[in-house]
Amino acid sequence: MTSIDDEVFAALRLRMVQTQLRGRGIRDQRVLEVMARVPRHEFIIERYRDQAYEDYPLPIGEEQTISQPYIVALMLELLELTSDDHILEVGTGSGYVTALLAELGKNVVSVERHASLAERARELLQRLGYRNVTVVVGDGSEGCEACAPYNAILVSAAASQVPAPLPAQLDDRGRMVIPVGPPEAQQLQLIRRENGQIHTTLREACRFVPLVSGGSFYV
Ligand code: SAH
Repeated sequence: MTSIDDEVFAALRLRMVQTQLRGRGIRDQRVLEVMARVPRHEFIIERYRDQAYEDYPLPIGEEQTISQPYIVALMLELLELTSDDHILEVGTGSGYVTALLAELGKNVVSVERHASLAERARELLQRLGYRNVTVVVGDGSEGCEACAPYNAILVSAAASQVPAPLPAQLDDRGRMVIPVGPPEAQQLQLIRRENGQIHTTLREACRFVPLVSGGSFYV
């Protein structure tokens, strides 16, 4: 049985997809479909739940935020994911993007430095029925060598430069998206690995929480 809340959230979710995603040029049908389906409000802490489908990031605890829906859609679209993809995510946070990646790809390894966030995301993803996800506590700037190589890597925290282990863990024809720049303002970089060569395309401006390594902003 669905509750009234579920119906309200479903309506807000469809409006989000129409206005914030389609309306701003997101075209990938699989991305639009999955964002119309995955219950983003489940990943939002209770206090902010009524704002789950609004056009901005929201606090998730530990001074971190769940990204704005549009920027999530953009990153997913840039990755051109297929259902065969083995995916690495850096910065699990709430687990929302992890769930979307799990729907779009084959399986996901997600690394989070805050054990409390990792634990909450792990439990929630389990409860929502995701069985193709592994959440690991650690420093994602090192990637996760044990499960490499990856067809796609999504980094949800900003670094002043691309951490070298990440493109090195891409498979041939692998894609990676990462916000790069100083703490106040970054630009998304789309990185492709082809025949051992790395190709970088500069994309949209964005603002993410910092990628923290060894206790400070990754430089
Ligand atoms: N995609 C997430 C965004 C979370 S914000 C969501 O939808 O909720 C970015 C996350 O990256 C934070 O949870 C932060 O703790 C984490 N993070 C920052 N530096 C990290 C690092 N070096 N390794 C792993 N996670 C890191």
